[in-house]
Amino acid sequence: MSNEPTFDYIVVGSGASGAVVANRLSADPTLRVLLLEAGAPATHPGIADPGGFVSLWGSEVDWALGTEPQPGMAERSLVINQGKVLGGSTSINAMMYVRGNRQNYDMWDALGADGWSYADVLPTFVALEDYAGGASAEHGVGGPIPVVDCPDPVMRSEAFMLGASQLGFDGPNWDSNGGRQENGAGLLQFHIDPQGRRVSAATAFLDPITDRSNLTVETGAHATRVLLEGRRAVGVAYLQGGEAKQARAEREVIVSAGALQSPKLLMLSGIGPAAHLQAHGIDVVADLPGVGQNLQDHVQLPVVFKRKTDAPMTTLLTGNVLFLRTRDGADAEPPDMQLNFTPSIPAPLAPMLDIPFAACIFLPILVQPASRGHVRLRSADPLAAPLIDPNYLGQPADVQAFVRVIETIRAIARTPAFSDLNEVEILPGADADLEAFVRSQSSTLWHPAGTAKMGRDPMAVVDPQLRVHGVESLRVVDASVMPTVTSGNTVAPAFMIGWRAVDMIVGQR
Ligand SMILES: Cc1cc2nc3c(=O)[nH]c(=O)nc-3n(C[C@H](O)[C@H](O)[C@H](O)COP(=O)(O)OP(=O)(O)OC[C@H]3O[C@@H](n4cnc5c(N)ncnc54)[C@H](O)[C@@H]3O)c2cc1C
Repeated sequence: MSNEPTFDYIVVGSGASGAVVANRLSADPTLRVLLLEAGAPATHPGIADPGGFVSLWGSEVDWALGTEPQPGMAERSLVINQGKVLGGSTSINAMMYVRGNRQNYDMWDALGADGWSYADVLPTFVALEDYAGGASAEHGVGGPIPVVDCPDPVMRSEAFMLGASQLGFDGPNWDSNGGRQENGAGLLQFHIDPQGRRVSAATAFLDPITDRSNLTVETGAHATRVLLEGRRAVGVAYLQGGEAKQARAEREVIVSAGALQSPKLLMLSGIGPAAHLQAHGIDVVADLPGVGQNLQDHVQLPVVFKRKTDAPMTTLLTGNVLFLRTRDGADAEPPDMQLNFTPSIPAPLAPMLDIPFAACIFLPILVQPASRGHVRLRSADPLAAPLIDPNYLGQPADVQAFVRVIETIRAIARTPAFSDLNEVEILPGADADLEAFVRSQSSTLWHPAGTAKMGRDPMAVVDPQLRVHGVESLRVVDASVMPTVTSGNTVAPAFMIGWRAVDMIVGQR
């Protein structure tokens, strides 16, 4: 590898976590950083427009990864959209900004991710944001990510917030990124700037630093393998414009390719379950059975009511939220359900939904699934999509959680606050078989996590410093490292993981 370009750090993937890592590492002008991104620069016109991202699904900026048929979802195969572009999935996502519940992080810490409790991660969340609602003990201003309460006035729903409070929840205007996330109805927060444009990992962390001569960003650069000498990572092999290339990392390689592709890259490099690697003819460098296991994803389900009156369409997908537990006596656990509410049909989704009348949509999201799936190699060809089996709704408890939240939704819809709004329940409908409805109508919320989990047990892939067990100079830094997926949309935690990783890397030098 003597003639290869040499850097101190190579980061693979420019998404929520990787862009933060590249930015903060290259803030030190003495460090040479290479960022490899398989996708293109974020120039697609649909990216900046907060309502335009649905048009990006299936386009050249989307990996559009297919799952195996899902027995828990009536044998359907789903497409999990994932950004293939600078900014990764933050360039095609729905921009909801939710930190997660304090119990998520306390649980991580208890499970072996030492130093990742809520008290540990809160300062990073505060440092990340520029919250339009102002600074407080829980919120920051002046950070790199503008965060705003739902900016679409059509979307904000007094009926939802009042209805939930008439049922006994707190609110209205509950701040679910505040001190207590759950049991209060309020507005969702979004990573959207004051001009109404998408804030992505690229706009927040890469665009402002294009003048740094110590940061090299290569797009269209598909990493195919981490190069190892013995058990030490020394570089990355990648394909760019049909040409095989290599770059050398003198200090570390950081894999931030997302929860579906980071485990794939590790396995292609000989790091993973030995028997599975051998079955694909890959030499085993580190037998880590947990690579690709522990896949968790959030599942969404539309519950639709016909409205009594017309309403303009909304520009965003949703805007109101309530986090709750569907099981009595589960107060020690993070909330398992995120209930979004959209008072009229979202314009971006209208062509797909094909609902020929005014409607409002409750969107329960199972945020603490009991089911676990996996990612494996389909083949040793680095350009082949990974084999993805999320095992959606594989556990009966997950279906039961949806059945119970449908009852809660019906109770909210019966409150006085909704009397002028709703005419009749359309989906699932009063006489529907709820389990069949859940299994046939649910889908992914595109939040895969957990496939290279942090911890110290035999299935852990990285330690609490995000270093791959048994391999030197190699970290995984993205949604893969979550021991359990958080209760809420996953971009804020992915930014936080990237930010803290750099504190750890720099702290070790
Ligand atoms: C359609 C959609 C809607 C979503 N909505 C929301 C939302 O509203 N709110 C929210 O909080 N979260 C949302 N998410 C999820 C959120 O965006 C992700 O959790 C977050 O971006 C994960 O960050 P990451 O760094 O782990 O991965 P990503 O952001 O996906 O970044 C991974 C990067 O690695 C690159 N890459 C992969 N393989 C290679 C390779 N071999 N070589 C080089 N580069 C590679 C990818 O192209 C990508 O740029 C949504 C996601 C999607 C897809």
